[in-house]
Amino acid sequence: MGTQVAINMASIVLFGPPGAGKGTQAALIMSETGLPQVSTGDMLRAALAEGSALGLEAKKYMDAGLLVPDSVIIGLIEERVKEDDASEGVLFDGFPRTIAQAEALSQIEEVDAVISIEVPDEKIVDRICGRYSCADCGAVYHDTFNPSAEQGICDSCTSTQLKRRADDNEETVRSRLEAYHSQTAPLALWYDERGKLIVVDGDRDISEVGNDILSGMAGFGD
Ligand code: AMP
Repeated sequence: MGTQVAINMASIVLFGPPGAGKGTQAALIMSETGLPQVSTGDMLRAALAEGSALGLEAKKYMDAGLLVPDSVIIGLIEERVKEDDASEGVLFDGFPRTIAQAEALSQIEEVDAVISIEVPDEKIVDRICGRYSCADCGAVYHDTFNPSAEQGICDSCTSTQLKRRADDNEETVRSRLEAYHSQTAPLALWYDERGKLIVVDGDRDISEVGNDILSGMAGFGD
């Protein structure tokens, strides 16, 4: 799909409201750059599935659609970027979400580009309330816009572990959007002032959004 571009970058941030398509586009960026995806939401859900104290603490915030405290998130990232696969940079998905997180990140890791996927609020609720993903490979689907070819089976890896997230309900989505606008959206300007922001219209077909992301990144690569 799309133009093949040689992309050689350090870390990239995928930025945007919940349901903008960050997880979907992460798969494309990973295949083009080889960078591992680091999703703080996935890390928190994994911690919860393990039943760790951190996961249980985070659950209170996640269920309410609120941001988990910066100290917890920054601690997770500090540990994650020390792992071997992160030595050449990573693709951050859903991190940073506050100015404090971005400031902490700037001390830990060089960020080359921040890809902001913009989708209007009124589209977000429909997108999130119908979505599900593969617990084994992370492929993301939607009841109406992008269903798996065979119901209950992942197109990418044939797993039958297709799941919906506990916080993908209308009430929580509204809180998550509020948190996004008040705490996360100001980061776009913060990164724009540092010359790192690539803005992409996310209210289009998955492949069109992907092509724009790759062209935007090509302009930033070495
Ligand atoms: P996500 O999977 O990115 O939509 O994140 C799901 C939930 O995890 C969010 O609604 C927050 O409660 C929490 N979370 C994930 N990443 C962060 C972050 N960088 N800062 C604060 N909370 C986060």
